[in-house]
Amino acid sequence: MKKLNGVAASRGICIGPAFQFHRIELDTEKKEISDPNAEVARLDAALASAKSQIDLIYQKALTEASEADAEIFQAHKMILDDPELISTIKNRIQCERINSECAVSETAEQFAATMAAMEDEYFAARATDIMDVANRVVRVLMNVADSPTADLKEPAIILADDLTPSDTVLLDKSKVLGFCIARGSATSHTAILARGLGLPAVAGAGLDVMDVKTGATMVVDGSNGVVIIEPDEAIEKQYHQRMETSKKIQSEALKFAQSKAHTKDGIEFEVVANIGNVEDAKFAVENGAEGVGLLRTEFLYLERNALPTEEEQYQAYQAIMDVFGKHPVVLRTLDVGGDKEIPYLHLEKEMNPFLGERALRLCLNRPDIFKPQLRAALRAGVGHNLKIMFPMVATVSCVRKAMKVVNECKDEMRKEGIPFAEDAEIGIMVEIPSAAVIADQLAKEVDFFSIGTNDLSQYTMAADRTNPKVAELSDAFHPAVLRLIKMVIDAAHAEHKWVGMCGELAGEPLAAPILVGLGLDEFSMSPPFIPLVKQIIRNLTAEDLVKLAENALQLGSPKEIQVFVKREIPFIAEVIS
Ligand code: PEP
Ligand code: MG
Repeated sequence: MKKLNGVAASRGICIGPAFQFHRIELDTEKKEISDPNAEVARLDAALASAKSQIDLIYQKALTEASEADAEIFQAHKMILDDPELISTIKNRIQCERINSECAVSETAEQFAATMAAMEDEYFAARATDIMDVANRVVRVLMNVADSPTADLKEPAIILADDLTPSDTVLLDKSKVLGFCIARGSATSHTAILARGLGLPAVAGAGLDVMDVKTGATMVVDGSNGVVIIEPDEAIEKQYHQRMETSKKIQSEALKFAQSKAHTKDGIEFEVVANIGNVEDAKFAVENGAEGVGLLRTEFLYLERNALPTEEEQYQAYQAIMDVFGKHPVVLRTLDVGGDKEIPYLHLEKEMNPFLGERALRLCLNRPDIFKPQLRAALRAGVGHNLKIMFPMVATVSCVRKAMKVVNECKDEMRKEGIPFAEDAEIGIMVEIPSAAVIADQLAKEVDFFSIGTNDLSQYTMAADRTNPKVAELSDAFHPAVLRLIKMVIDAAHAEHKWVGMCGELAGEPLAAPILVGLGLDEFSMSPPFIPLVKQIIRNLTAEDLVKLAENALQLGSPKEIQVFVKREIPFIAEVIS
């Protein structure tokens, strides 16, 4: 038995076999071949096999997603039947005597580049499809699986150095019990993904994680940041009991998830979800979300070779808005940079990407990215309750610049006769300390704030959110962060604007009494946390919590604050133990 300590990245416990995650690298290097006819035959076999794979995915999408989603795979099959594309690949194999992997990938890149440059949105969107299909054919040629988890026979605990957003897109989530990550912290991408799926995760567990053998039994205690490898019988039994208790608490809370969250003295709080795609949207509704407080739009930009077109984005946003009908959906404009890289944007490497050209800063410099997204969002908002939100706002002037671009988009669409959501509210994330300090000025510029405690903590405490060595510092329970939160809420209310929170603190049971006491209006969190937070709010009395929040802010450390809340409101300690 071996114990590793890391960072509590996503609550809950799981017990099961370990699985070492290895990234699949495609090898498309040019190689000379001796027998072009045999190589073409190898290619033909790979094309046939890729077609059958696509058929299967099409059937799966038809039953598990929508007809519109499934259509994409019909289009993929048509690409494999495109005579021009296939004959160009074969000609290159015959004339240049090169391997199929290289011929497929280079030819697809050429075709995709031509498509991407076309004015017509439909053709531009096909560029990504071509590269998707080409990568599938190369995987078949190399005899490697579609997903790194394809060989898993039973659900397992994923072990990795760290996972990038692209890695997680490829994971078969139904085969994942939880995560144990060598690096990373509570607000790194893997942690956010785990919370979104309601799976336990420990991050920053150290490089010893990489020595655990696939198949070894392990326990991941995501509530306490503890990992146990090959637990003895007594320990395993203990964890099984804790797992059962927390499952019971969760399923009890789920029974009332669809009801509103009123405190005992009748104050209603809006509890909404952080989501990243249409599957999350459906999951959020099942968990009682009354809307979306943070739609992370990055999902549309990852795992592809060119920017998504306006039309593609419009369709994707509309599908999500349709799930929520008239309930609010706060769509955050693109937040890349920091730890989220998009290779095809060819952004310059920065020494400090979290302090660099990230999010709104990039969008203001790149109207070719910003405008299509704003137009798509505004179009998708027709008939819905759309709110647009800018990430990484540091100054009044950047808000004004962003608003100017919104107004330009609206003017253009008016001239073009395109309907859009005229009255969509515009808000900002308060996640940079400067924005919190000038919240009184910013409140005059926008309709709402949403506090991003993940970044607000890292910037306030000067502690990288992805670095486990400083994870203890970048803690949103720190009084320095909580005092900024109070300033932001008070400043917004003075201007009669509403304030939400979409950072991870909003889903923390121990934070709920403090945030209710400070007067936060909206709590936005990963869907699995919604039922429990609603239940906690229902058991609180808002009037008593104003003083509690004031007292909490006078304490010296995150630990002291958490102990204080547990002592004052003992029932919360019970539900999270
Ligand atoms: C935040 O910073 O708190 C936030 C919600 O945004 P992200 O985690 O996507 O940076
Ligand atoms: Mg952020």
